[in-house]
Amino acid sequence: MDEVLEQLIQLYEKTPVMVAAYDAFDRLRYANPAFRSAWFIDPDASPTWPEIIRRNYTAERGTVIRARNIEDWLHATQSRRGKTGFRAFETDLTDGRWLWMTETVLENGWMLCIASDITSLHCDERSVRQDLDYALKAAQVDELTSVANRRFVMARIEDMLEQLQFGHLTSGCLAVLDIDHFKSVNDRYGHQSGDMVLRDFAHRIQQLVRRTDCFGRVGGEEFMLVCPNTTTPEALLVLERMLANVWSSRPLSGHPDFRYAFSAGIAEVLTDDIAFSLCSRADKALYAAKMAGRGRIFGSDQIPDRSTTTG
Ligand code: GH3
Ligand code: MG
Ligand code: MG
Repeated sequence: MDEVLEQLIQLYEKTPVMVAAYDAFDRLRYANPAFRSAWFIDPDASPTWPEIIRRNYTAERGTVIRARNIEDWLHATQSRRGKTGFRAFETDLTDGRWLWMTETVLENGWMLCIASDITSLHCDERSVRQDLDYALKAAQVDELTSVANRRFVMARIEDMLEQLQFGHLTSGCLAVLDIDHFKSVNDRYGHQSGDMVLRDFAHRIQQLVRRTDCFGRVGGEEFMLVCPNTTTPEALLVLERMLANVWSSRPLSGHPDFRYAFSAGIAEVLTDDIAFSLCSRADKALYAAKMAGRGRIFGSDQIPDRSTTTG
């Protein structure tokens, strides 16, 4: 086995195919020379994926990014990156090379990236394929906030339920997050300010989401977080951190005292759960969090029993 590993590493060091491995926090843990050279990464450097992208974007090298705003592009890409077992797509480099890129993800979040140079292949069909990729992105990403949309999130819930059913995961949680008193933000500061708060919220949460989790906007000011391999107490910790982050934000520059919060409900997957039953329990927990005064997170096991609270 040691010999195989050793030979494998030597082959990786030699091949023009670009090979890299990222851990669950999206930090680069291995990259062969071909990969490091294409994305300008020093031999011993171990940056995160967003760091690599930002750095190269500023220096106008590496991946070609056709976006007006690099942060929006990062959010849109991060909301889809490494969420499914396998993904393949085309991408081009500023040096003119065209790549076929594959991403393979383990249950523990580690991801293998392999990119091959396909510059000489099927040039004429490229723009059609790229249009298809843009269309796919538009179908999976929310336009206002650049995070995943309802369709993409619901598919991740189905994935999580299936993986639990097959025993590939040990637990899983769904959280529903809803911004508090959002209607009054629109009423007081105008719809545009409301939109700014939505974008601020989405970007703050997205930055705290682990790559194996999926966060997206499912309605007006309602969002969902899908957390495979996570129990309710673990999800509570993650969401408390998110709540503290959001509470510290002052997103409206014209109103420096304005701050906002959200409420959330968490449901952990039970045997025989379907997406509907899981979402309903998370919704009920969210409702209980709202009733208890907002700005708090409830697990579905924390919902006060009506017969005892009203009796
Ligand atoms: P609660 O604390 O109970 O959640 O109260 P709320 O005011 O947040 O909830 P409510 O459901 O009454 O209001 C949601 C508001 O969100 C109403 C709607 O006008 C606004 N909204 C929905 N989508 C958008 C959007 O894309 N942009 C803006 N600016 N507002 C939106
Ligand atoms: Mg609300
Ligand atoms: Mg709502």
